[in-house]
Amino acid sequence: MKQIVLASGNKGKLKEFSEILSEFDIEVLPQSHFDVVEVPETGTTFVENAIIKARHAAKVTGIPAIADDSGLEVDLLNGQPGIYSARYGGENASAKDNYLKLLDALATEQENRSARFQCVLVYMRHADDPTPIICQASWEGTIGFEVVGTNGHGYDPIFIPEGYQRTAAELSSEQKNSLSHRGKAMQLLLAQMREKGVLA
Ligand code: IMP
Repeated sequence: MKQIVLASGNKGKLKEFSEILSEFDIEVLPQSHFDVVEVPETGTTFVENAIIKARHAAKVTGIPAIADDSGLEVDLLNGQPGIYSARYGGENASAKDNYLKLLDALATEQENRSARFQCVLVYMRHADDPTPIICQASWEGTIGFEVVGTNGHGYDPIFIPEGYQRTAAELSSEQKNSLSHRGKAMQLLLAQMREKGVLA
């Protein structure tokens, strides 16, 4: 069975990748399994940060790596919080700190609250792979005026997906996976991995 390391400590992501790749006889292991410590995300784009994480995990483990980097872009804030989404409210900010800060930043804005989640997924065959597989997808929506819903994570309770009257935190995980930036990027990655012979 082929093994791939996931350059993330997030259990939800590990479960998602494991479920999708198990049908191709691929075992996805978290980087913690190999004692890989998190690497500083020093890039200025989602793509750079995903590559930094995948390269680091591949280098330490010696096996192929997948990494993702994602975040929320708000048009009125010139794309912020963007790559800083996880720490928008401060270095150790909780999801609640982050979304409350964002609601505050938009408090005087009644219109044009458009935003999108971005997700970049990277697959690197080895640490020196000169042609990593890079997939990017987004999920359009608007920032609501209040906190609604208890599902999901991060900014979901204030993000209203395009075509919906509800927040992402009111969607089931199945609904969210079929619509979201991460769900779509995963489908693109699978297709590319298949095309490039990574999947049997
Ligand atoms: P990460 O790169 O996947 O860890 O995501 C960075 C940050 O972006 C997260 O901590 C969240 O704040 C935000 N984010 C990414 N994807 C989502 C999502 O699907 N829902 C809500 N917030 C998200």
